[in-house]
Amino acid sequence: MRHDLAGFWHRCDRRSADLVAHMSAIGSKLRSLEGGKVAFKCPGCNQAHHVTVDGSRGWTFNGDGDKPTFSPSVLVRGTVPITDEEHATIMSGGKVSPVPFVCHSFVTDGRIRFLSDCTHELAGQTVDLPDWIVT
Ligand SMILES: [Zn+2]
Repeated sequence: MRHDLAGFWHRCDRRSADLVAHMSAIGSKLRSLEGGKVAFKCPGCNQAHHVTVDGSRGWTFNGDGDKPTFSPSVLVRGTVPITDEEHATIMSGGKVSPVPFVCHSFVTDGRIRFLSDCTHELAGQTVDLPDWIVT
């Protein structure tokens, strides 16, 4: 039993180390995350998007963190975060209608092509995927 307990703690140590490792770099443009996901910085949204690349969600990934290619396209939907003014409106009892948000892109060979249904300003453009700068 002692041995099992030691093994248990050992696994815990390994687990916490793995959690740190889960945010590890893949090349200059990607981070790997838990659950078979990788993340890239989206220059249209100024935030990270996640793609599940372990095969369970149908995406393929070329494994290149410097010139990544994901297939098929990455579609992110949500609502635009409310502004301070809108927050103040809600707090004073007013109503704010959420603004729908769409980011739809193809990541190919380290470049990201935004489709025209994106709601951000890079819709319809193709730009380099930014390097993931560690701060
Ligand atoms: Zn985006």
